[in-house]
Amino acid sequence: MKKCPSCGGNVARNANTCPNCGKQFTRPVTMGCAVIVAFFFLAIIYTAICEQVKSPTSTSSRSNSDNYSGV
Ligand SMILES: [Zn+2]
Repeated sequence: MKKCPSCGGNVARNANTCPNCGKQFTRPVTMGCAVIVAFFFLAIIYTAICEQVKSPTSTSSRSNSDNYSGV
C-alpha cells in the first residue's frame, strides 16, 4: 500500500491511478531503472575504450625498453 500524494488515501502499490480521487501516478522507478541501465552501458563502453587504449601502449613501450636494454 502507498499513499496518494493528491488526497492522502491508501492506494494499491501497482495502481496507476488513485481510486479515491482519480489522480494519475508517475513512476519514478522506471526512470531510475533507465538511468541505471544507461550508466551501466556507459561504464562498459568506458572500460572497453580504456582497455583498448591501455594495452597496446603499455605492451609496445615495454617491449621497446626490453629490446633496448637487451641490445
Ligand atoms: Zn487520491
